[in-house]
Amino acid sequence: MEAAMTCKRDGKPMYLVEESEKMSDGTRRITLYYKCPVCGYRVELEQLVINVDRGNITVKRFIRLK
Ligand SMILES: [Zn+2]
Repeated sequence: MEAAMTCKRDGKPMYLVEESEKMSDGTRRITLYYKCPVCGYRVELEQLVINVDRGNITVKRFIRLK
């Protein structure tokens, strides 16, 4: 098991959040990030942009964490 991510500010364990939003053109954006429940500090892990155009699905993946 991998150790949980800890907050840079207070050392508390952070939890993983998956946020999904739909943009006006139908594109779906999913953001995965770690969030500290104490101070609200967040570290973005990756972002997926899903585009559906006439039945063709395009997925773009952006990895934020190094
Ligand atoms: Zn914190």
